[in-house]
Order: sequence, then C-alpha cells, then structure tokens
Amino acid sequence: MEKQSIKIYARVRAAAGRRPGIYAVHNAGASASSLEITVPRDLADGFVNNKRETYRFRFLETFDQDTKQEAIFERIARPVAERVLAGYNGTVFAYGQTGSGKTFTITGGAERYSDRGIIPRTLSYIFQEVQKDVSKVYTVHVSYLEIYNECGYDLLDPRHEASKLEDLPKVTIMEDPDQNIHLKNLSLQPATSEEEALNLLFLGDTNRMIAETPMNQASTRSHCIFTIHISSKEPGSATVRRSKLHLVDLAGSERVAKTGVGGQLLTEAKYINLSLHYLEQVIIALAEKNRSHIPYRNSMMTSVLRDSLGGNCMTTMIATLSMEKRNIDESISTCRFAQRVALIKNEAVLNEEVDPQLMIGRLKKEVQALKDEIALLSGEQRTAELTPEETQRLQEQLRNFLEDSDPEQLLDVGADMRKIHYCFTYFKRLLHDQAEMRESVRDPERPPSAPPGEMKKLRDLLQQRDSEINILVSMLKKEKKRNQDMKYHNPQHPTERDPHSSTPPTATRTSALHRKTEEMSLGRQEAFEIFKRDYPGRVHIEDNKVLLKQRFAEAKSLGEEVNNVRRRINELKAAVEQRRMQQAARGVSSIIQEANECDPEEEELRAQMEAEKKRYKERFTRLKSLKTEIEHLQLLLEKSKIRLQKEFQEWWTQETCSLQGRGEVNVHSSPSSSGGRTHSVSDEEHWVTTSSEQRVGSVSRDTPIPLTGDSQTDADILAFVRARHNLLSRKGSAHQ
Ligand code: ADP
Ligand code: MG
Repeated sequence: MEKQSIKIYARVRAAAGRRPGIYAVHNAGASASSLEITVPRDLADGFVNNKRETYRFRFLETFDQDTKQEAIFERIARPVAERVLAGYNGTVFAYGQTGSGKTFTITGGAERYSDRGIIPRTLSYIFQEVQKDVSKVYTVHVSYLEIYNECGYDLLDPRHEASKLEDLPKVTIMEDPDQNIHLKNLSLQPATSEEEALNLLFLGDTNRMIAETPMNQASTRSHCIFTIHISSKEPGSATVRRSKLHLVDLAGSERVAKTGVGGQLLTEAKYINLSLHYLEQVIIALAEKNRSHIPYRNSMMTSVLRDSLGGNCMTTMIATLSMEKRNIDESISTCRFAQRVALIKNEAVLNEEVDPQLMIGRLKKEVQALKDEIALLSGEQRTAELTPEETQRLQEQLRNFLEDSDPEQLLDVGADMRKIHYCFTYFKRLLHDQAEMRESVRDPERPPSAPPGEMKKLRDLLQQRDSEINILVSMLKKEKKRNQDMKYHNPQHPTERDPHSSTPPTATRTSALHRKTEEMSLGRQEAFEIFKRDYPGRVHIEDNKVLLKQRFAEAKSLGEEVNNVRRRINELKAAVEQRRMQQAARGVSSIIQEANECDPEEEELRAQMEAEKKRYKERFTRLKSLKTEIEHLQLLLEKSKIRLQKEFQEWWTQETCSLQGRGEVNVHSSPSSSGGRTHSVSDEEHWVTTSSEQRVGSVSRDTPIPLTGDSQTDADILAFVRARHNLLSRKGSAHQ
C-alpha cells in the first residue's frame, strides 16, 4: 500500500453566542478547507511573536460549531473503522486545549444519547459489520489505557475497585528484540457484542472518574487510549488478519506558562507538556527528510503510539478548537501543530499472518483427509476399531482356514494391522482353550469346563455385560457432573460466580456502590437526600429517567407490534398453503401451471405477506436501535449516579472535617481512623442533648439527638446535624 499522509480535521467547539470576525471557515470541495483565524485588535498587541492579525490553516475539512456527533463519526471515524475491519491499523486522536471538546468528540457528552461520541458509534458500526459479514469469523477485544505522569494504568481491570489511580494495575512497556512494543499488564477484554463492549467503555470511564480527585484532575492531564483489537479469518483458513484501532483522547495541550500554577500542579503540567513536547519532537523528526532516528522512546505515549505516527497505520487527527477570545492563542498553536502533523506520511500494510496453531490443525485435517482417500482407493474404510461385520467376516475366514486340511492354504487378511492382531488373539485364545481342555481330562476333580461353543457364548455374554457396565458408569459420571454444574450455577450459592454470566463489569462496580448506599447510616441517608435535591446535575438525571421510561414504553409497544406482525405473517403463510391445497384438490393448479398463469387469490395473499414482512423488518430494526439507546441511557444514568455519590462523599468528608476542625463535637480521631471519621463516644452518652455547647456549637441547640453508642454512626449523626444546618442556612440566604 502506498504512503499516505496523516489526515487532519478541525472541529470548532460549540459555544454560547458566536463571535463573528474571530474565525471563518471555507470548505472547498470534499477534501480541502481553510480555517482563517483573526486575532482581535485588543489581543494582538500582547500576542507573542505576532505581527500578523490573520492566520490561515489548511485542513481536509473544518467542522463548525453546529456539526453533529453523527457527522463527525461519518466523516472522520467511519473510513478508519472500515480499513481496520479489512485488516489495517487505524488511529483517531483528538488534540487541543482543555475544554475544547476532545472528550466530547472521542467519548461523547455525559447527558444525551445523541451526544455519544466516536468510541460508542465505532463500536456500534464494527459489531454491525461483523454480524453482516458471514464469510469470516471475527473476534473483538478492547483495552483501555490511561497514561498519567508517565505511568500507564489499566482502566478495564474488573478485579479492582479503584478509588485512586494508583489502585489500578500499572502498565509497563516492554520491547522485544524486533523492537515491537508490548504493554505488560494491560488487559485485553473480549467483547462479543456491542453491549459488552459498551459496558467495558463505561467501566473504564467510571474507573477514570472515580480515580480522579479535584487535586489531580486526571481528565485534563492524562492521555487515554481506547483500543479495539479485531482479528478475522475465513472459516478453515490458517491465515489471520489482526488489526488495532486506537481512539485517543490526549491531555490538554495548553502551555505551562499559561497554566501558571504552583506546587504539585506544576509538576503535572510539566509532565503533560513534556509528553506532548515529545510528541511534537517525534512529529518534527518525522517531517524531516533523511532523519534516521525518531525519538519515540522518550515518553510512554509516543512509544505506545509509535505505529500511529510514521508507521503501519492509517492515522487521523482532530484538532479541537475553542474560539473564545481568551483561547485564540491556544487555538492557533493547536492549528500549527496540526499543520506539522499533516506532513507525516504513514504506510498502512495489511496485517495478515499464518497462525501456527491453526496451521497444525489444518495439516492434521489434511493428513486425515489423505488417509481417508487412501482407504477409499484401496477399498477399505479404516476406523479405529474393526466393525462387527469385519470381525464376523474375519472369524469366518479363520474358521475356513483352520478347517481346511490343505497345508498350502494361506490366510490372507490384507495389509491391515488390526486384522492381523485380531488373528493372533484368536489363535492365542484357541490354544488357551485347548490347553484347558487337556488339563480337565487329566484332572477329574476339576469341574468340567463348558464345551467350546458354550464357552464362547459365555465369553460373549461377559463382554456384553462389560460394555453395559461401561455405558452405565459413564452415564453415572455425566449425571454427577451435571449435578455439580447445577450446584455451581445455582443462584442460591451467591459466593460462586457463574463464569458465563453476562453481568457486565459495570454492574459489579455499581452493585458495590449500591452496597455502599445501603450501608449508609440513617443520618447520612437523610443528608444524601438533601444533597441530591440541590444537586445541579439532577435535572439531567431526571430527564434521562423520563426518557428511559418513554423508550421502555416504546420498546414494549413495538415489541408487541412485532409479535403481532409475526403472527399475521404466519397466518398468511398458512392461508397460502391452504389455498394451494384447495386448488390442488380441485385439480386447478395443474391447469394454471399449464397455462403459466398465477392464482390471483394466492398472489393477493403473497403481496399482503410481503407488505407484512417489510413492516416486520422496519419495526425490528427500530426495536434493535431502541435497545442500543436504552442500554446507553442506562449506562449514562449509572454513571451520573456514581458521580453524584462521589461528589456527595467528597462534600460529606469535607463537612465532617470542618466540623471536627472547629472542635464542635466532643470527638477525637483515633489513629487508625480514615479521614478522621472514627470517634469515641462512651456508653453512657447514648442520649445527649445538643444544648451542650461542646457538642454541636450553634446548631439546633434544643433538639435532643439520639446517639447510638456506635462511634461511626454517632459521628455520622453529628456531622449530619451540622451539614443540615449548613444547607438550611445556605438555602435561607439564597431566599433573602
Ligand atoms: P476536553 O476533553 O477537551 O477538555 P470536553 O470534551 O470535556 O473538553 O468539553 C468541555 C465541555 O464542553 C463539556 O461540558 C462538553 O460537553 C462541552 N462540549 C465540547 N464540545 C462540544 C460540542 N461540540 N457541542 C456541545 N458541547 C460540547
Ligand atoms: Mg477531556
């Protein structure tokens, strides 16, 4: 395949109120557009290095503010996904300053189904195509890597309940002698359906969100790489195609100078800028002709994306731009970066290889086929055992041979070792029988042996019993195994997890969170209710709940309709059949056939059936897309709930700490307490009144508060009293 430049697109973030004059988009034709940015006069003076006022950049296409997510997928991601399905590597990465819409473009907005981004749409598209293409067998895996401060973390590890990034498995880079990069500890999770893949995406996003604290702001300072690994092969073939699609949400590209923060944040800012700086170095090196060393190894991100940059990959970049006045300099620097990226040429090759395991399997099959062919040509059908007919024929041959007194007579059983072995065994048994007979003649005390004919019968009977016993034993084994399996799958044994259960990983996580909610003490629950009531994101949660309900109702009625249409089709089929039988009985059909004419009534029924089938297909397609939407909405809701709980937890801890800080509660942290929330309350203090100055300060002094004696719960109760007071006073001041 010939070399191809990295494709660059620009997307301007939607913002409230356009600022005319700052930028202009000229899309000329299918693959050429120019974006003109004009620096406002009041900014131009202080602008670094700036003599000009207008900058012009070239992109394949510039997507203005009103561009929908669907169009972004269709124009940018779908062509890459198509190539990946065909066996080529692909990468789509978003680059831009924080807040310019990278996450919105790559993953999607957190509130609306229509805002879903490139990752969920690509998954949807890939699984649709995989299901359509029956000529190949596909397997899909996904992985989700976060790189933060030069360390890699596996966002998809279902065994971990991360509360901070460091809890997640650390991913490291290994390089083999052929300089191929391997990511140690990054799990590849199998996904057999769109639903499973979506669950994994949401698991990773939830991990990312939970691990993020206000201090580390991982989402702006880390790089996230969601990778879809596809392998495909034709049935029976040993040639496998393996390809990867990286969907990359890079860290914010803003410069350190502008970040202007101290302490830890500066270290982080330096790190991002350092890794993005290394990315820039790689890009500059790639754009230079005759440059042999490309500094990929300087950072983890450039190592992981080595193939995407100047290697075996079809790569696309989306420059995300925010055109507010204060962001103009960053937007110009993003566009400059994109112009350099456009100079890089990649060469995507078909990733096709012969799988040794599959090859062995295929060769084994071939050997067997050749054996079968030989057997067929030599007129013999070889199996592992002689068939009863073959044994019978052999016995006859042997008897004839033994009875024939002619010493010249030969026994010819052919070149079949199984038959030769059978003959030897036969002779041995015969000799043994004769020796036994001679013995019994010499020893009259011995019970008489059964005559040879009788013996044979007994022996056959014995053999028959043996095989019966074998069959029974194997049946018993099977039964036992089944019982064990049933025990294993039985939901009454909750400690044993059904390995085939389709419970998504997110469900595991959310059930853990639900557990946390259940464990909340009453005071906390009440505070949680109040917190929820005033939570700004509640509107979206409620909207989505309503939408979900509507969709469920729609799906239900559509499901009923689909069933009705199916019933109607079956009725019509039966009617056609009946009509045919009637016609046949009347002898009409042959006349019609001879005249090459159609029965008009049957035609009518068939037309009705076709119409119903069309209706069925339409309804079914709609039902399927509704199902995807419902699943997506459920995951969005789940994510919002987790975010709500996380924010509540943060607020709660803060409230408790500030309460203790002011010494308003007669409590002291035990050294083992986490966040200072374990307090000692003596047994005699079960009932206290808050009129005591020491306890709750100015809060509800006259209300008696029942304490339980459990230090954790009591701390919760006291913290709640304070929190409620805070909330009420905040509300009070808001009303004033
Ligand atoms: P980044 O990841 O680059 O820091 P985000 O994707 O988080 O930026 O975007 C910042 C905010 O702007 C989010 O609230 C996001 O939903 C919103 N946003 C970004 N791009 C768009 C867009 N094209 N349309 C609507 N909202 C957008
Ligand atoms: Mg982001």
